[in-house]
Amino acid sequence: MIIFADFDGTITQADVTDRILEEFAAPAWRDAEEAWVRGEIGSRECLARQMALVKASRAQLNALIDSVPLDPGALDFFRLARRWRTPVYVLSEGFDYVIRRVLRRCGPPGVRSEVGVFSSHLEFEGSALRVSFPYALPGCKHGCATCKPLIMRQAAQGRQPVLFVGDGLSDRFAVEAADTVFAKHVLLQYCLKRGIPCQRFETLANVTERLQQQLARRGLARRRMAALTPR
Ligand SMILES: [Mg+2]
Ligand SMILES: [Zn+2]
Repeated sequence: MIIFADFDGTITQADVTDRILEEFAAPAWRDAEEAWVRGEIGSRECLARQMALVKASRAQLNALIDSVPLDPGALDFFRLARRWRTPVYVLSEGFDYVIRRVLRRCGPPGVRSEVGVFSSHLEFEGSALRVSFPYALPGCKHGCATCKPLIMRQAAQGRQPVLFVGDGLSDRFAVEAADTVFAKHVLLQYCLKRGIPCQRFETLANVTERLQQQLARRGLARRRMAALTPR
């Protein structure tokens, strides 16, 4: 098993990038957002245009990031994956700086440092923020800032099943590369509309509970197989 989780609105209770834009960007950021929602531009172009409108110091950004609440089940979610030695990757169009800072709140170092992150990159340049997109991979046909399905196919390396947990419009391509989808909000509506099988969740505690059952069943099956295999 391998787990891929969206970050904004999935591991956190709010979209940190949206909060940054609402607080620190010139109002034209909404024009880019609307063009993206209408499907006229990809998320990479959208984010590049939006972040160019942001003026914020590191201290301002840190204060905002630290005010965003985690999903109440986030800690247990990462702990469970660790206990079962199941790799977890965070896939996000948001920014590495934000994600790493939030993950520091996710339990002891042993838990959080094992979480791999694929995301957009952010650097400070005075009060401007310079962004780049290391995972806008060649072969992406969607104009992604971070191409979730391409990363999932590469990182899974044949591991099965591939799980994806997400909440938003930017997760709609990721579901193509998953065996099991946990969805809420916009992603749930998207899946229901298209008949894409998914499991509905409210908080990560729901996901953890179902994963625990699934992992326990697999563990039992493995032990049974081992008992049947002659040594
Ligand atoms: Mg999200
Ligand atoms: Zn893509």
